[in-house]
Amino acid sequence: MSWKDRKKVLFIDRDGVIVREQQVDSYDRIEYIPYVFRALGEIVSRTDYLLVMVSNQDGVGTRAFTYDGFAGPAERIFSTLSGEGIVFDEILIDLSMPEDGLSTRKPGTAMIDRYRSDDYDMEHSFMIGDRLTDMMLARSMGCRGFLLSDDKMDIPDDLASVIAMKCSSWLDIASYLVDDGSLLHRSADVGRRTKETDISLSVDLDGTGEGRIVTGIGFLDHMLDQVVRHSRIDAHGEVHGDTFVDFHHTTEDTALALGEAVRKALGDKRGIERYGFEMVTMDDTVASAAIDFSGRPELMWDASFTMDRIGDFPTELVRHFFRSFTAAAGCNLYLSALPDGDSHHTAEALFKAFARAMRKAVRRIPGDARVASTKGVL
Ligand SMILES: [Mg+2]
Repeated sequence: MSWKDRKKVLFIDRDGVIVREQQVDSYDRIEYIPYVFRALGEIVSRTDYLLVMVSNQDGVGTRAFTYDGFAGPAERIFSTLSGEGIVFDEILIDLSMPEDGLSTRKPGTAMIDRYRSDDYDMEHSFMIGDRLTDMMLARSMGCRGFLLSDDKMDIPDDLASVIAMKCSSWLDIASYLVDDGSLLHRSADVGRRTKETDISLSVDLDGTGEGRIVTGIGFLDHMLDQVVRHSRIDAHGEVHGDTFVDFHHTTEDTALALGEAVRKALGDKRGIERYGFEMVTMDDTVASAAIDFSGRPELMWDASFTMDRIGDFPTELVRHFFRSFTAAAGCNLYLSALPDGDSHHTAEALFKAFARAMRKAVRRIPGDARVASTKGVL
């Protein structure tokens, strides 16, 4: 059998990994670990790992943990998972107690020894568990492990090399296994330091619109609040700029950092909508935005302001902000607004329209890992 035909396996623990409780002996003790469905759903749909459950259930069949108490909830857990397309090839559960000393009990490997054959690719297989005994099992099998735990643990040297990652979220595991994370965790950090500005900024494209970018320019901060809230991109940023000179450098560099962060977070842009359009009305004006994350920067601008300044903020910098963003993000952006509106309204409507168009463009199409281009690259 060629190495290409050998099957990769994810051995998955149950308690502490799929469900929270260590002894699920009634239906009301079923509480799923956050993101287990989303993460395993992504893994199942985008990879070819076999799923094999390997679990110890101490003393099932005793008065303290009856077989009926175990079996009903266990079936419920697996039927709920399979309803989401997460189907285990094999479910292996050891029911003994530690003092029985059986080799079927983790970290013993007797239940899964048959996977150590040429049909399976242990080198590229993983054990996902919440305990060091799970990682010991991984070592015995010649595979590696994900240690899913918030707990601080002293990891012995001989297990360190077995552990591919210790993490507190299923999303991290899915990120690792699915395309190096380009499809799940779309976030990026940007640090940018020049003689004029010092910026640290982070974005999470799959956020809810939380966070603030603070620049020290009141009006710009107000506009960036609109961008965060209406794009639903989480963003946190601190900008220290030479505002004692004027607002030009700080506005420009903030836009460059934001654009760079969005471009980095989009990665190879697989599965995104790519295009977004929005029209936003605000009191006496209407603004439109159309955006295309094409990889090519272009700003098309059809807006004007009735005033030179909004407070102490020069209105010409609104256009400059968007020009800088498009250059760094690699996007086409069309912005327009009715003339003669109040300048504050015009600017705010433009930022909101931009944010909402971007929200649509960066949105992922569920189950679609293709690039939205016939060229195959954006
Ligand atoms: Mg466990």
